Amino acid sequence: MSIRSDPPPGAILLASLRDYVEQLREEGLEGPPAVESSAAPHQSPRSQTVGEPPQEPTAAPLAAASKAPADDDRPAAPPAVARASSAAPRSAPDDLFYLYPGLEKTADLAALREFIGDCTRCKLAPKRTNLVFGVGNPSTELMFVGEAPGADEDARGEPFVGRAGQLLTDIIERGMGMTRAEVYICNVIKCRPPENRNPEPDEVAACEPFLFRQIDLVRPRVIVGLGAFAVQALLKAKTPISKLRGNWQDFRGIRMMPTFHPAYLLRNPADKRLVWADIQEVMRELGRPLPSRGPRR
Ligand code: SF4
Repeated sequence: MSIRSDPPPGAILLASLRDYVEQLREEGLEGPPAVESSAAPHQSPRSQTVGEPPQEPTAAPLAAASKAPADDDRPAAPPAVARASSAAPRSAPDDLFYLYPGLEKTADLAALREFIGDCTRCKLAPKRTNLVFGVGNPSTELMFVGEAPGADEDARGEPFVGRAGQLLTDIIERGMGMTRAEVYICNVIKCRPPENRNPEPDEVAACEPFLFRQIDLVRPRVIVGLGAFAVQALLKAKTPISKLRGNWQDFRGIRMMPTFHPAYLLRNPADKRLVWADIQEVMRELGRPLPSRGPRR
């Protein structure tokens, strides 16, 4: 014998609710939109990559969001577009390529020089005589990076040709047993700062993407950073050159030896012995024999 009992009043109410929800579904109304509509359209969680800092909103995605309804399936804006439209340069070298769209596509040094053109991207442009790009072997294993052109370099359009340049040439030829044509020489800044003043942050920000591309194209085994300014620009650090010199550093997988600038050595010849020690380290790293005579003391 089966015993039937009437369902409790709560169960009847639940069944009625289920029927009502089912009816809403059939009519295309799946529920109140309050939860989705409370999120701002341009703040979709998918627009922020895990592990990356939040991107500053740029004009293009915000404009698009104002036209489009909230839609989580809308593809996020490509990061390259966001970086290219960013007003301020970013600190990481890879991001700096995006400061000038197309820079990362330059296939060799000639294409890079063409890309730079008759550059007016910073306030040093009107005062220069020549833009000083760089000289030497485009596929060398050894690259020297200095600060900026001086008067002689500005006049000739070639880096390290004044008194400091002659000392660098002496280090390369007599100290290392190589020629200037075998190595590659360039500066962080391609145009001469007036009165040989230090380059200013906005000038560095405008010009250093060219250096980073130059290094990527040459891809040397070793970089010798000449002086505090060049070393600090490459490492994005404020550590004094006196602490950095003689200690191997890494620049995007390339060994970098910081040492004193030849212009400093002209004023402080006693420190040539320290630079000579750094150069010997470089020669050991390259597996090259040391010449019997070092640079002039
Ligand atoms: S210093 Fe560099 S960014 Fe400035 S004008 Fe010269 S090449 Fe262009």
